[in-house]
Amino acid sequence: MNYIVLDLEWNQPIHTDSKSNEITKSKYMLFEIIEVGAVKLDENLNEIDRFNKLIKPVLHKKINPIISNITGIKERDLSKEKKFPAVFEEFINWCGEDYIMCTFGNQDIYELEINMQYHNINIPWKYPLKYIDVQRIFSIENDEINEQRSLEMVCMFMGVSGKNAYHRALSDAIYTAEIMKKMNRNNFEKYMSLDYTNLPLDRSEEKEINLGTHLEFLSRSFKDKEEMLANKDIYITRCPVCLKKCRKKIKWFSDGAKYICMARCENHGLMEGILYIKKNYNGYYIVRKTTGVDEERFMDVVKKRNILKEKRKIRRIKEKEKKKKFND
Ligand SMILES: [Zn+2]
Repeated sequence: MNYIVLDLEWNQPIHTDSKSNEITKSKYMLFEIIEVGAVKLDENLNEIDRFNKLIKPVLHKKINPIISNITGIKERDLSKEKKFPAVFEEFINWCGEDYIMCTFGNQDIYELEINMQYHNINIPWKYPLKYIDVQRIFSIENDEINEQRSLEMVCMFMGVSGKNAYHRALSDAIYTAEIMKKMNRNNFEKYMSLDYTNLPLDRSEEKEINLGTHLEFLSRSFKDKEEMLANKDIYITRCPVCLKKCRKKIKWFSDGAKYICMARCENHGLMEGILYIKKNYNGYYIVRKTTGVDEERFMDVVKKRNILKEKRKIRRIKEKEKKKKFND
């Protein structure tokens, strides 16, 4: 089994207000890939090969000055390059048969698959696609799970240095590979990440997946949001340790961005459920994360829910008063 350490550079629209032509025609492909860089490592993390190709964009053809400034890539550098489908085919053949994708952060594989969808390329991976997010493993190893450190910072911290400038696909892939060589290898398998573009095709494929820090559940995709929210499966909480269904201590409530609940397993204690509603090409889907927590976190969530309840109550009273004034 090999590791494919991947990094991408992409272009983005210059005008980003929602009514602009560029945004309307781009649908879901806001970021168009213009460079693929990758390093192939064997199972002992020895380098086997490198891949580096520029790509001629077909949607966002003008290179955004911000992107030019960061990467140094100009339009004239891309004019003679191949388009995405040809480069992607070369890349996927280069990857070989047996590999795990590794990236710094969770955006590269997602954007790669969005670009495949735009070009009607069959995604060569199926649910559940697990990959190694080196940025996430760095956060876990350094006990700062909610921090997202930049590649440069992590390199500095890990004592990785090099002559190549950052923000080019191949050099960033090389830096990421160097970081991996300095990490605890047991953590690669223990703390895998789950890709969100490959969803379960039907209910029978839906399952809880252990990602080391928490359980993660992806639902199949639903055309209709209401139908999805009426589906009881999405509200289940299972213990991250024994997978038993658990009784709720605090029912699901919304904080505006996500839904939160608290439950307790008789044998393994308290857990927090978080539910995100996401949108993709085909409609809506759910990401649900369940994490074991302590009493302190439980009390924080109770406080948060009570504050939200209170705010809602005040809002209702104010609305009533407004209506009353209006009627008077
Ligand atoms: Zn349990």
